[in-house]
Amino acid sequence: MGASSPSVLISGAGIAGPALAYWLNRYGFNPTVVEQAPKPRTEGYAFHLHGTSGIEVLKRTGVWNKILEHRRVDRDFTFVDRSDRVLARMDSPAAAADVEPSGAQITIKRADVALVLYEHTKNDIEYLFGDPIERLDDSGSAVAVTFESGNRRQFDLVIGCDGLHSGVRRLAFGDEARFKRYLGYYVAAFTTDDYPIAYGSDVIYFAPNLIASLFGLEDRQAIAVFVIRPDRELGCELEDVDSQKKAFKAALPDRGWKIPELLGRIEGATDFFLDSVSQIRMDRWSKGRIALVGDAAYCPTLLSGFGAQLALAGAYTLAGELMRAEGDFGRAYASYEEKLRPYVAEKQKSPTQSTRFIPGSKFGLWLGHQVIKLLNVPVVSKLVFKTSYGGLVQEAFTLTDYEGERGQSRVGPAYRSSAAASRIKA
Ligand SMILES: Cc1cc2nc3c(=O)[nH]c(=O)nc-3n(C[C@H](O)[C@H](O)[C@H](O)COP(=O)(O)OP(=O)(O)OC[C@H]3O[C@@H](n4cnc5c(N)ncnc54)[C@H](O)[C@@H]3O)c2cc1C
Repeated sequence: MGASSPSVLISGAGIAGPALAYWLNRYGFNPTVVEQAPKPRTEGYAFHLHGTSGIEVLKRTGVWNKILEHRRVDRDFTFVDRSDRVLARMDSPAAAADVEPSGAQITIKRADVALVLYEHTKNDIEYLFGDPIERLDDSGSAVAVTFESGNRRQFDLVIGCDGLHSGVRRLAFGDEARFKRYLGYYVAAFTTDDYPIAYGSDVIYFAPNLIASLFGLEDRQAIAVFVIRPDRELGCELEDVDSQKKAFKAALPDRGWKIPELLGRIEGATDFFLDSVSQIRMDRWSKGRIALVGDAAYCPTLLSGFGAQLALAGAYTLAGELMRAEGDFGRAYASYEEKLRPYVAEKQKSPTQSTRFIPGSKFGLWLGHQVIKLLNVPVVSKLVFKTSYGGLVQEAFTLTDYEGERGQSRVGPAYRSSAAASRIKA
């Protein structure tokens, strides 16, 4: 360990990992990022980045303009019934907002956010792909890490930014089941080419216990997303992708609309994704020299719409607190947790924005259709956009400004922990 440059191993090159690496490097640490995928991921779903703190972190990180280059625009929404008849159609106000959306909401592929952060940091930071951590031994004075390849290295700190199914959490804190709260839903997604859809169009279909949607990522390229409420937990999240496809097909509660055709297309999908809608709740986000950030520590569910924001705000805050604590990582972990917990608690309170719209019965579906038809009335659709787009922007978290302390803080010497970590209250 270099006395002036503490080494930090970050597991996961998703959203939190590269953001944390950027800030730690800026503050004089020596981060290494290890990612289980063999190369930076490019595939996957589009999501909404909303909320001022996540976007502000991206701006402070210096990548906002690049992020905007990858932005996708929701142009219009069409609600259809079982026979593909249009129930309502609305143009999105986001289509009118030009480059920088003042409402602090953009649609973008998750992989594009991760890729922009990776590209921004790859020249200054060591990235190891395809060699995840197999074993962690925290001796109290350092963490000995064994990688899957058998390679062994020692780091001052290890931070798990490795998502809902975090390997660092499993190795350092225990089984996922202890921290996971399954909320009764699953999400499946995949992209499909050569599909008759226009860029930016959203087509949405409801059935009992199901919402299915198609979004035009490009002209003729769609991302299909399904939210289902199966009658039991599928328990196949960590299995291979073919087993997941099989389990999803068996659990799908409806075969109306375009679903038979989409099921055919799943077979050829190379980026099929299936996961449960679950939260991670932990009493502590650190143990000794090891800490967790983002979904690994406090996943609000993939349907909350706030996972990326929490990951970014968490990475930024942990890096700033580590710099501020001048080597006292216990104090840094404690301050990070104290600062972020109220924000996490608020976002975990309403974990599934969209599931409340899933009808539970045929009658519920009929009722839902009557409400959807009201969206054809311009004043109603305007109100819906105002509450959904405007409402989601409300934030309870203000980012600390650490920049003034940069350069004054001595991050290196005495890489120790005070008793501060034990003050954290669950
Ligand atoms: C379909 C879907 C829709 C979503 N919609 C939204 C939305 O609209 N808004 C929003 O804010 N959030 C949304 N989310 C959630 C959001 O993607 C996550 O909350 C966010 O990506 C969390 O960032 P993270 O860095 O903590 O984890 P991730 O982005 O999941 O990154 C974790 C990284 O760790 C890697 N990894 C995993 N295990 C290991 C291991 N053992 N060793 C090394 N590396 C490992 C993974 O490959 C990945 O690169 C959505 C998620 C899904 C799946």
